Amino acid sequence: MKHYRIPKWLKRFYPGAIWDFSFRSNSIFLTFDDGPNPSTTPYLLELLDQHQIKATFFCLGKNVQNYPELFEMIIQNGHEVGNHSMNHPKGLHTTKHEYVQDVVSASQFIPGKLFRPPYGKIKPSQFRALKKMGYQTIFWSVLSYDFDQKLATDEFIETMMSYCEPGSIYVFHDSDKAAKTLQHELPELIQQMKMSGYHFAKIEPGLFS
Ligand SMILES: [Zn+2]
Repeated sequence: MKHYRIPKWLKRFYPGAIWDFSFRSNSIFLTFDDGPNPSTTPYLLELLDQHQIKATFFCLGKNVQNYPELFEMIIQNGHEVGNHSMNHPKGLHTTKHEYVQDVVSASQFIPGKLFRPPYGKIKPSQFRALKKMGYQTIFWSVLSYDFDQKLATDEFIETMMSYCEPGSIYVFHDSDKAAKTLQHELPELIQQMKMSGYHFAKIEPGLFS
């Protein structure tokens, strides 16, 4: 059973978190988690550049530490970056202190206060602790399941487009597991979104003020 969307009832546990930017009527926000990654980041940067798309990369501190030059390329290409923790902890199985420490560790490598919880799983207490420290938590409107994709290209695109609404935030992964989808389905999806009249924007701190 795939949960492309986060259920509404869950949202009330995270006041102030971002799920979409529905006030941005013509914009789609593409986000890429878990990078940077040598076998997918250069490809993604090229694809996004071809389409003149600015996106948001929620990076893992450990990967930024390992591939600082790729991280620099993401920034140089004009994309936004966010903190996706150091080691991708499971929030529900981690103490508040350990969780916050993991995010703080990543902040040595990733500037800014945008944060996306690994797996989208975070205890309300962890969420509140990070909020107090100034972190803006960004969830999503549509999880692409690019990492577990057994749908044919047409089916995948049809599913993604069926969830497409003004201001939607899509999650993809800048990782090996998603490489096939990034190469085979994402370009076509971008085309379809463009043909439907959407523009693409990155998640910037200015959107919250
Ligand atoms: Zn992740």
